[in-house]
Amino acid sequence: TTHQKVALITGANKGIGRAAAGQLAALGMTVLIGARDPRRGEEAAAELRAAGGDAHAVTLDVTDPATVRAAAQQVEERFGHLDVLVNNAGITGSGQVSPEDAHDQVPSSVDLDMVRAVFETNVFGVIAVTNAMLPLLRRSPAPRIVNVSSAAGSLTIASDPHGPLAGLLASAAYTPSKTALNALTVQYAHELRRDGILVNAADPGYVDTEINNHSGYLTAAQGAAPLVRLAMLGADGPTGGFFGEDGSVPW
Ligand code: NDP
Repeated sequence: TTHQKVALITGANKGIGRAAAGQLAALGMTVLIGARDPRRGEEAAAELRAAGGDAHAVTLDVTDPATVRAAAQQVEERFGHLDVLVNNAGITGSGQVSPEDAHDQVPSSVDLDMVRAVFETNVFGVIAVTNAMLPLLRRSPAPRIVNVSSAAGSLTIASDPHGPLAGLLASAAYTPSKTALNALTVQYAHELRRDGILVNAADPGYVDTEINNHSGYLTAAQGAAPLVRLAMLGADGPTGGFFGEDGSVPW
């Protein structure tokens, strides 16, 4: 019998996550569309099925432990294993604004509850989902975890006074949440290396989605490409790295 590969993508009802799900389905994987709104998840799954993919909606709010538990149980009962986890769900905390406009994230005046909400989704949610899915990933012959980060979370890029991000407003919420996600990626990679589980962070680039009020210049399909590459790594692939469309991104 052949092993049917199963991939779960969080926040896959739209944007980069949805594009990544479509690409993984086109590569022959069964894709599970994680969505906090069941109706939006089902719509996205139906669209992928109409395009010939094997797609199923899974209700999953990464900040809600009950839905995380229920999602893991559903995957266990229906498929018995998981091959790929793409931790894609993310928020800026500022609503639909481009990074240039995130005045409410400036460190000296930021609302701490907003910082907490952003970390709850972008960082703690990743730990919750990853740990719930790890027993299922361990049953895969080639498990892969992809954490969708951002070049904005790169301390090397952010601390360069002449770098590409120097003109952006300082952020105490979104940007540090992605730095923390990068740090977690390295730590998970260390722990899981001996088990053959490859864990990497992906930088999609600046992508035209709702998160930035469609100010990005890459298509969602282009933004999904680095995620998909990391989801499909061979056994000799890297772990504990940070990769975008042009290869390695500095930490
Ligand atoms: P979108 O806003 O289009 O998509 C975000 C997705 O995350 C949506 O499906 C949203 O669901 C979901 N989501 C948000 N909160 C939760 C939650 N608590 N539980 C489950 N799902 C949730 O943005 P993008 O596609 O652009 O963003 C995807 C990822 O890419 C994010 O992690 C983002 O930080 C990252 N990224 C994006 C860049 C860009 O230029 N667009 C650049 C760098 C990184 P819902 O529809 O219900 O709101």
